[in-house]
Amino acid sequence: MRKRCILHYLDEPIVPLNRCAVGDVRHIVRNIVNLTRFILQVDKTAASPLTLAQIRSLRATVLALRAALLQGGCSLGLARAIGRSKWRREKLLILCYHGISLADEHLWSDLYLSPQHFDQRLSALRKIGATVLPLQQALELLRAKALPPQAVAITFDDGAYDFSALAHPLLEAHEVPSTLYLTTYYVEKQLPVFNPLASYLMWKGGGRTIELPMGLGRQLLPESARDERHVALHSELRRVTQALNADEKHSVARVLADRVGVDFDAICAQRLFSLMRPAEIQALNSERVSIQLHTHRHRVPQEQAAFLRELSDNREVIARILGDSSLREHFCYPSGEFRAEFLPWLETAQVKYATTCAPGIANATDHPLVLPRFIDTAGVSQATFEAWVTGLGSIVALNRQPRLQRMHV
Ligand SMILES: [Zn+2]
Repeated sequence: MRKRCILHYLDEPIVPLNRCAVGDVRHIVRNIVNLTRFILQVDKTAASPLTLAQIRSLRATVLALRAALLQGGCSLGLARAIGRSKWRREKLLILCYHGISLADEHLWSDLYLSPQHFDQRLSALRKIGATVLPLQQALELLRAKALPPQAVAITFDDGAYDFSALAHPLLEAHEVPSTLYLTTYYVEKQLPVFNPLASYLMWKGGGRTIELPMGLGRQLLPESARDERHVALHSELRRVTQALNADEKHSVARVLADRVGVDFDAICAQRLFSLMRPAEIQALNSERVSIQLHTHRHRVPQEQAAFLRELSDNREVIARILGDSSLREHFCYPSGEFRAEFLPWLETAQVKYATTCAPGIANATDHPLVLPRFIDTAGVSQATFEAWVTGLGSIVALNRQPRLQRMHV
């Protein structure tokens, strides 16, 4: 197949992909990257030379090409070639996980993977030939341009009970290191975390009309937690309960559970949305799990003194639990909330590395306090996951950087 212009692939995006030779695949990838950049540019320009319909059509074509590359037969060979490339060797994929389902949480939110699903991911890392490194070591090697092939670091946010019950045994079975960003208020408080619990309960009651607590009136609860109305009702419930303390919020959750017909005591006994207890944190394999900062109350105050207090409280509780006061220098922005003014504050607090939820693969020039991660969710297919490990995923991704520009040193 001769090299042809982009328009050829717009007309016949998928069929040639399955038959093309490696050289042509590289050509197609380059076209996709260029086309993606082009679309993102014209999309933002008011005086675009294209009509909205044309932009939509181009976007659909790029998505189809991207899907074909990620899922199609030839993508396997291409992914392997990219995985072995010098380009990939100078990159670090930092994977981000939130939760592994104790019950049916993965049906409620994509941020939860079933234990089988997570096990598949860990097996895939080995099968592809990825090298899973402790985050600290990986970042040092990234800077020194001395990473092993397909370097990956695994991070978990929050420190929920399911980490010790399900994730940790799987990580141990696969003998891979991880970094756990631990938020500490609910470790001490030992109540389920209200915000996700409230959303979960509302999802459990999907299809029912109930009287929402806190005077929010009679509402028909949507079946899906992704439904706009679910998101709006949940956000309203969060707003009206914001000033309540943890015990008061717990009482509101109990009322909500009763109204949607869920056994609240059973959920508490299962430890859904509960963080680990100090003894469970102590029982983690400290050789392989590095416990790092995520603020005490899972919030990023916009005022410096309060921000620094969140970090120092977080550090203090972790040091007390582990009986180890060595300085923790890694941080993860709660909910990925990042602002440029946090950088000098983090430096003041002697934080050296911080990860965001901005999608991407890290390279040596990334600012160490604004590191991108790939958020692996239940909605990510195995083929897409594997494509990200090899590096192909980040090449053909059509993601915009959310809320922040990627920063460089
Ligand atoms: Zn978090």
